[in-house]
Formats: sequence, C-alpha cells, structure tokens
Amino acid sequence: MDDTQFGTRSKRGDWSPDARLEVAPFWTGQWGRMGRFLLGFLWPWNAFHLAVTALYMGVLLPDWEVMKTLSWGWVLYLYAVNAAGILLLYGGIELVYYTCRKQGTRFKYNHRFPSESPSDVFWFRSQNLDNVLRTFFVSVPLWTLVLVVILWAYANSWASWLRWDEHWLWLVALMLWAPFWHEIHFFAIHRLIHTPFLYKWVHSVHHNSINPSPWSSLSMHPVEGFIYHAVALWHLLIPSNPFCAVFQLNLAAYGAINGHIGFDRLELTDTVPLESHAYAHYLHHKYFEVNYGGDGLVPLDQWFGSWHDGSKEADEAMKARFRKKKERAAARRSAREAER
Ligand SMILES: [Zn+2]
Ligand SMILES: [Zn+2]
Repeated sequence: MDDTQFGTRSKRGDWSPDARLEVAPFWTGQWGRMGRFLLGFLWPWNAFHLAVTALYMGVLLPDWEVMKTLSWGWVLYLYAVNAAGILLLYGGIELVYYTCRKQGTRFKYNHRFPSESPSDVFWFRSQNLDNVLRTFFVSVPLWTLVLVVILWAYANSWASWLRWDEHWLWLVALMLWAPFWHEIHFFAIHRLIHTPFLYKWVHSVHHNSINPSPWSSLSMHPVEGFIYHAVALWHLLIPSNPFCAVFQLNLAAYGAINGHIGFDRLELTDTVPLESHAYAHYLHHKYFEVNYGGDGLVPLDQWFGSWHDGSKEADEAMKARFRKKKERAAARRSAREAER
C-alpha cells in the first residue's frame, strides 16, 4: 500500500495521517458520519473483545463452584490464560510488524523501531525487555487480581447477577456503554497520574516509551496497573452480569494495545488494512500533555482543552498552552522571591 496517499512523511521519515482526528459524530451533530462511525465502533476491535469475552465465559473460565473458594490453582490458571492471550495478541503483532517488519515503516508514525534506541531509562537498557517484563510480572498479575475478585464475588452471589433472558435490554445497554465507561475511567485516572507527584513516582514508567510499540501497552507501575484494570469493578456495584464485567475488563487489558501499535494501519494483505486507532494516544506519548483520553468517543479532552487532532492549529494551541504554563510558573517564582 502507498502510505503517501493517506498521509505525509517528514524529512526524518516520520509519517503522519492527513485526516484529522474527529470526536464521535453525535457530539457535534454530524449525523451523516454516523454510519461510518458505528461500523468503526463495532468492527473490528469491539467485535474482537466480544469474541474473546465469549471464549473466556464459554470455554476458559473454571467452574463457578470452583471459584466460590479462593485457591492458588484456579488463580494461577487464570494468570496463565491472560498471559497466553496477551502473548498471542501483543506478541503476534510485535513479531510480524516490529521483528519481521512486514510493512517496513509504511504508516509508521515514528520511523525508528524501539530496538534501535537502547536507553538507560529501561531495565537492561532495552525498551522491549523492560516492557515485556513489566507486562508479565506487574500488569497481567494485577489484571488477573481484578478478574479473580469479580469472579469470586459473582460465584458467591455477593454481586447482583442479572439473567440475560429476563434483563437482556439492560445488559445490552451495559455492553454498549462499556467502551464509554472505559474512556471516562481512563481519562480520570490518567489525568490524575499526570499530576506532578504521581507522574514522577507512578506514570513516568509508562512514559519512558516515547516511541511505543505493542509491548508498551501494559508497561506500567503497579499503582497504574491496578487502577487501570479496576475499571471493571463497578459492575460489582450495579445490577450486571459476569459477561459484561469480563467484557469491560478485556476492553482494558486487550484494548490497551490500540494506542500503542505505532502504525496507523496494519497491512493484513496488500489491499486489506486494519485501522489501529492509535494516533490520538501516540500524540499523547509524543507530547505528554494532550489526549489523556481515547480517540474521542467521549470528547473529554475537547471539553478540558487538551485535545490534539493532529493538525498544525492544534500544535500551535498546545504550544501556546505550554507558554502560558511557563509564564504562570515564572510569575509564581518571582512573587515568592519578592516575599522573601
Ligand atoms: Zn500509553
Ligand atoms: Zn500519560
């Protein structure tokens, strides 16, 4: 595929899409875009998470009787299931597009590959190794912890478990709401861990990967790893169903890859692309203080003034914000000095 038909390559070799990021059309009254938006909302990523959830619920989860009592056996089994799932999805994309470099740098935002940039900020000076170890030894265990709490609570009837045949309309609404809730929760915790103290001690671990690859997705400090996956715990507080709760959790765990694919499109074949939806979060990794949420399903960044749609105007607005922030900090400093 010719990526120059869809974007521009800088002199350094970085590619950026010509199309601007747009928030979901029902926020702006662009009803003509609804058909295309709905298709992109359902296919392929949310359909994938739905299929993975069906596999968990129908095949992979242990018996509900077993999950009534906490024991290492089924907890470690679930860790193995989650780790295998991540190895397949993240490892598969990493292998094809980063190790074998199937499409070279076509549609790649940053022309470099993480393996070409060893750095002291990473364990063993390797972004890949650092990210892989944090994924399997920090984030996947914490994701599994949240999953275990949810399943254990449902198995013991501590949470309200609605039946699909009696409450299907409410449960379908919850499933459709899940991606919206994911964005709201992610924006809130993400904005929180960008405050100076928490950024320094918690979130900077994730931001070490300025040029993210799939393994960066779940490369997190333990505090972030837990509060990120805690998104699904609210299903224990409302009338819901384990299927909806596991779907919510899978959106976080498997869905974390979307912002970190590093390519705008993955070429599945010579003519069939897979849209990554990665650009908004790529810009977050590049500029830090924009796009705290997802790609505009709930336009929280627009409402709070941190939206970057990839345009030159958004770039200028961002720089003006940075300048103002610097000026305010300088004014505070000189006021403090005058007081002394
Ligand atoms: Zn990220
Ligand atoms: Zn961040």
